[in-house]
Amino acid sequence: MNHDAIVVGVGPAGLLAATKIAEAGYNVLVLEEHERVGEPDHCAGLLSSSGLESLGLSLPDDVIQNTVSGARIHAPSGYSIFIERGRHEAFVVDRRRFDSWLAEVAIAKGVTLRTSSRVTQITEPKTGRLSVRTSNQYLESRTVIIAEGVRSVLSKSVGFPVVSRSSRLPAYQYEVESINIEKDLVEMFYGRQLAPGFFAWIIPLDEGKARIGLASRNKSKIRLDSAIRHHPIISKRLENAKITRGMGGIVLVSQPVSRLSSEGIVIVGDAAGMVKATTGGGVVIGGLTAQIAGESVNESLRENDLAKEHLRRYDKRCRALYYRELQTMYMVQKALTSLSDKGLDSVVKDAHDMGLLEIVRREGDMDLQGRVIRRLISNPRTFLLGLRAIRYINPFL
Ligand SMILES: Cc1cc2nc3c(=O)[nH]c(=O)nc-3n(C[C@H](O)[C@H](O)[C@H](O)COP(=O)(O)OP(=O)(O)OC[C@H]3O[C@@H](n4cnc5c(N)ncnc54)[C@H](O)[C@@H]3O)c2cc1C
Repeated sequence: MNHDAIVVGVGPAGLLAATKIAEAGYNVLVLEEHERVGEPDHCAGLLSSSGLESLGLSLPDDVIQNTVSGARIHAPSGYSIFIERGRHEAFVVDRRRFDSWLAEVAIAKGVTLRTSSRVTQITEPKTGRLSVRTSNQYLESRTVIIAEGVRSVLSKSVGFPVVSRSSRLPAYQYEVESINIEKDLVEMFYGRQLAPGFFAWIIPLDEGKARIGLASRNKSKIRLDSAIRHHPIISKRLENAKITRGMGGIVLVSQPVSRLSSEGIVIVGDAAGMVKATTGGGVVIGGLTAQIAGESVNESLRENDLAKEHLRRYDKRCRALYYRELQTMYMVQKALTSLSDKGLDSVVKDAHDMGLLEIVRREGDMDLQGRVIRRLISNPRTFLLGLRAIRYINPFL
């Protein structure tokens, strides 16, 4: 059978793009290499309620594990600030169930899903169709959406730029029981010794249950194990805890890659570097841009012209809507990464003392942080904070 669109990868980006295309009446096949949707999972599962609303998703109860209303940010010295916005800011989801539910929605809209089907090659069009090779068959399609996640093997094989090595941070995470935490508060722990290049997190799941994880430039599992034993706050939280599950993954701290479309092919989600560099979160922003990819593919299918000039509408729309946000977040993450522990302490403390947290409380958005960052930058008190922090920039980073 010939397809209008083949999507490679059954993560949120692939499923949301596929759903958009099926909604327009086109014939879409999603191919996933693993046997089950959503497995193996590696995500912390923190999704903003506003982001889910923008995606048009209303989660069923069995996907939601918890709701949180704020975050406590710990500086290396132990000093901490609390950011709360007075309402249920985010959901914690079980990614296996979230992805399965997205797949059910997609199938109900007409998407065909085939698991245990690894795509090994995409051949560029000769007769106006792309040839997609899986482990056991050849398929043909008018267009292909690559939603393969962080690996970027196929994207690279067909000539797309990929997220650089230095923007891929190894991460490790445990699910734990009997932990001492507040049930509606996420915790983030910064420190160059603890997690160089990123941070450690605790995401509450239920009374006494949480995900605790860490991403950094290297040795993330060793660093996490060490934090559980020795970090003054983390070790107390986990004093009597029991680890029930462990999982590894790659967190992206990147900007979008420089090209998202070519002749008949588009890339979406992590494969396209669509993440918030400040947190590595990619479900909402990857989903929103994947929906734009789906709409752009629909227009090209309708006009029966899948040339790169037409598909470039996807690049242009993402650039216009989100790149400023994503680039601002990337720059902030780079600035934080270049600070020593003393610098991080100074930023966290000054942000509190100078009353800047009020701006974050009032105008912050978990997904589109660029606006509040620009608002902070235009504040003279932030200039002072920056001047004080500059002393702690490590010139060798
Ligand atoms: C430890 C950790 C915690 C995270 N926490 C959060 C969080 O709290 N909130 C958040 O928003 N984001 C989080 N993220 C990031 C989030 O997981 C990703 O941004 C998101 O999953 C990207 O979605 P995707 O659809 O692009 O790719 P994925 O979800 O990775 O899906 C890609 C799919 O493609 C399949 N695939 C790959 N190659 C092939 C092939 N050749 N043939 C067939 N199938 C293939 C894979 O098996 C996979 O199922 C976290 C990441 C990590 C590592």
